[in-house]
Amino acid sequence: MKVMKFGGTSVGTPQRMKEVAKLITSDPGEKIVVLSALSGTTNTLLEISNLLANNDREGAGQKIAGMEKYYRAFVQELLTNETIIDKANKVLAEHFEFLTIILKISFSEALLKDILAQGELLSTKIFSLYLEEQNVDYVLLPALDFMTLDNQDEPQVGTIKVKLVQLLQHYKDNKIFITQGYITRNAKGEVDNLKRGGSDYSASLIAAAINASACEIWTDIDGMHNNDPRVVKTTMPIKQLSFDEAAELAYFGAKILHPASIWPAQFFNVPVRLLNTMQAEAAGTLITETAGSTGVKAVAAKDGITAIKIKSSRMLLAYGFLRKVFEVFEKYRTAIDMITTSEVAVSVTIDSDTYLDEIKKELEALGSVEVDTNQTIVSIVGNEITETKEVMKKLFDSLSAIPIRMVSYGGSRHNISVLIPKNYKEQTLQLLNKGLFGLE
Ligand code: ADP
Ligand code: ASP
Ligand code: MG
Repeated sequence: MKVMKFGGTSVGTPQRMKEVAKLITSDPGEKIVVLSALSGTTNTLLEISNLLANNDREGAGQKIAGMEKYYRAFVQELLTNETIIDKANKVLAEHFEFLTIILKISFSEALLKDILAQGELLSTKIFSLYLEEQNVDYVLLPALDFMTLDNQDEPQVGTIKVKLVQLLQHYKDNKIFITQGYITRNAKGEVDNLKRGGSDYSASLIAAAINASACEIWTDIDGMHNNDPRVVKTTMPIKQLSFDEAAELAYFGAKILHPASIWPAQFFNVPVRLLNTMQAEAAGTLITETAGSTGVKAVAAKDGITAIKIKSSRMLLAYGFLRKVFEVFEKYRTAIDMITTSEVAVSVTIDSDTYLDEIKKELEALGSVEVDTNQTIVSIVGNEITETKEVMKKLFDSLSAIPIRMVSYGGSRHNISVLIPKNYKEQTLQLLNKGLFGLE
């Protein structure tokens, strides 16, 4: 059995949804199909939630009405059979009634999660009705019946496996299973999610749970490219990546994969394929244990980084000092991405400002603290690159005009990272495209 995940743009129009149906029925194997919400829907649901949080019920109501109109037109265009259209309209009535009710109740974090879940619930139900119309045999497996988080909000692969295997046992003769990406239950049993872009993570967790033969991530581009195609004009797809390389790229900003989506596949050794729904015959990117080749494969950039420097000439080299620094971040459950040290100071970066004030206050007990917000980590990723000749030279030659704030080298053999102010990101990615890949 394999997993096929289709992202927002892949199901974003009635035509695309029909193509997805063709893709999943054209090969005879067993599969679990993981769907995202239609493109734009999760953003709209977030906007509705923000309006509600700010008590703008009228604004939220208008957005909900606009969304309902869009979905009504969508099913009209997708479906032809009157009975199935009736069913689809009932599905829409049910979900938009829920969204109308929320206008009357007070806003909370738990309600926000319920609102955000509507996108995937709608897309899977609409897609299922299209399959029904096409006389395709399928089973809709509700993700909320098997996806779970523990009390640290980490997915519970063991529990997911047990629940999913149990569910699948009821359907021994079926071959096509549809489920929602992104949504899950948390430790309290409430509806929750795997954060933005989380359907990739769902797919990988499901692939790990069923020991799938492959985890296919179908999207709007022909695989992982050597640079960010949203920023740089000329980029090219990469044929093969190791799990380690792909994990670094995902974590350091390659939006094509959710930051945490590689570890489940890697842990259970399920090959991941990145494929293009609009160009199904393209080779895409294969991600397995082996890297294929050595050398630089790609660069990626992660925005929203804060750099914190702690200066303490008296204490830095005393043992135990770094532990005290790290304990502050641990206390506030804030992950550190980069770290550099000198005789008198240590600099770290974090990607979440939620507890910045508290962290800063506690670090001030250890030394003087400087904070720079709005930074970007640019990562150069490849197999054994730290042992590949000339990479550092090319890197620094290319970036001679960029004010580099930190450098991380040697932490892993697959990654060299530099920290720059965000307003230099575009220039940096372009310079690296030329200096490392010879692309203009
Ligand atoms: P989906 O809706 O299918 O999950 P996403 O928008 O989340 O799709 O991810 C695909 C997008 O990721 C591409 O359209 C591309 O703009 C962006 N992207 C960023 N970096 C890369 C990269 N290195 N290679 C490929 N795509 C990338
Ligand atoms: N619909 C969710 C989002 O937009 C999850 C996903 O698309 O992967 O973030
Ligand atoms: Mg995505």
